[in-house]
Amino acid sequence: MEVILAKTAGFCFGVKRAVDTVYEQAGKQHVYTYGPIIHNEQVVSDLKKRGVRVLHSKGELEELKEGTVIIRSHGVPKEIYDIITSKGLELVDATCPFVRKIHRIVQKAGKEGKQIIITGSAEHPEVEGIRGWCSGKVTIISEASQMDEIDWKQPACLVSQTTFNYKKFQDIVEIIEKKGYDIEVCNTICNATEERQLEARSIAKNVDAMIVIGDRHSSNSQKLFEISSKECPSTFFIQTLEELDLRLFESTGKVGITAGASTPQKIIKEVHASMTEKSFEQLLEESLVTIHNGEVVEGTVIDVKPDEI
Ligand code: SF4
Repeated sequence: MEVILAKTAGFCFGVKRAVDTVYEQAGKQHVYTYGPIIHNEQVVSDLKKRGVRVLHSKGELEELKEGTVIIRSHGVPKEIYDIITSKGLELVDATCPFVRKIHRIVQKAGKEGKQIIITGSAEHPEVEGIRGWCSGKVTIISEASQMDEIDWKQPACLVSQTTFNYKKFQDIVEIIEKKGYDIEVCNTICNATEERQLEARSIAKNVDAMIVIGDRHSSNSQKLFEISSKECPSTFFIQTLEELDLRLFESTGKVGITAGASTPQKIIKEVHASMTEKSFEQLLEESLVTIHNGEVVEGTVIDVKPDEI
């Protein structure tokens, strides 16, 4: 089997910077992250063992009396900075610089009297953060068709969630150009996201099966899955190696692997190694079953036709 691993798989610059920041702070007393530092259960639980706790709401933040609060790469609304400083807590800002740039763009556009349009998912923390730097009207859209709902009498500024689908953003910009709306367009989709999505699409086009590794809650991983599935119907979304049923690939010629921005290298390496190092014979051996009184008591029965071995 030929395995193609995407060069862009795994932590991007902003996520790596944020995770490294938390590990640096982890030895201190009373360290909190405002929301999980990344959408990855393994990393969050490792940090918990090191004493880093997660604040899940503004209410929890308001109850703190002391400690250090780390802002994750997604960023937060301005209001959260204000609460941290007014309470005399230590602030460590690991907001990705690319996201901070969006905060500055919308803040400036708001002062100029422009309405803000954000392409992205309204529930995503990054979008909630951006929204919290806007003054005036804000509209969040995720499809080109939603452009009709906007009141175009007021000048506008368009920004995007950094992990938004690049193709969908282009479709929206095309409509703006055709209709000649009074709008300042800022493509704030991060290069890391764009490159990752383009690479996923191009690998998925040329393989028989595709594996996307990422946390279920990771929006950019879900998008990779969406993009890959369109090009390659046999696309699998997994969080860890344990979720990968290697038997499904026994007669697959070419497999592609990509991973979201919050997927640790360790998991990517494990999946990659399992696809490239284990022979089908090894897999069979690992799957051997023990049958007692007609019942499987250990292992999993796999249905293998002799000509597939
Ligand atoms: Fe920053 Fe881009 Fe990573 Fe988002 S995807 S954290 S914007 S580097």
